[in-house]
Amino acid sequence: MKVYVLRLGHRVRRDHRVTTHCALVARAFGADGLFFSGERDTSIIISVQDIVNRWGGPFEIAYIPSWRTWLKKKLDQGFEAVHLTMYGKPVNKAIKRIKKSKKDKIIIIGAEKVPGEVYELAKYNVSITLQPHSEVAALAVFLDRLFEGKELEKKFTSPKLIIVPQEKGKKVKKVD
Ligand code: SAM
Repeated sequence: MKVYVLRLGHRVRRDHRVTTHCALVARAFGADGLFFSGERDTSIIISVQDIVNRWGGPFEIAYIPSWRTWLKKKLDQGFEAVHLTMYGKPVNKAIKRIKKSKKDKIIIIGAEKVPGEVYELAKYNVSITLQPHSEVAALAVFLDRLFEGKELEKKFTSPKLIIVPQEKGKKVKKVD
């Protein structure tokens, strides 16, 4: 099952760090890529590609000028969309049905106000608590529920750096 994240409404000045963190969480927690719309921002792509280059992949990162066109095309290709929103069905109630469907997934996260159309295009509108918090946290918890914690042991391909876990201190191995 392919899992892509669609990050809506990126604003260059306000969201650089948060959108980068969404991409890093998407990669670390097992998604196959993150696509973002809103304002074009090449620096996000460069930073995330640098992480992929050093810590391994595969992971796709790209800017999409029209989220609507991109999403409709993915839905036509057989993907189904899960929109993370505090107004949605609680994850503990929704996750069983979502996992039962083996279709490829698009996980949609917003920045500021999410267009109403997104609630209709998504097959599932899912909340991670009914409280306002952050797209980074919502994404991490949702991916962890989707992959049942197995993503925490994911091995990445062709890393240049690998951490050797230590109880104390830092050990990083360079791979040639
Ligand atoms: N006020 C905005 C709205 O009406 O959509 C939400 C802004 S929030 C800072 C940015 C994103 O974080 C949301 O679009 C959603 O994807 C995610 N988010 C925040 N709290 C959430 C929650 N409790 N459950 C699921 N997703 C959440």
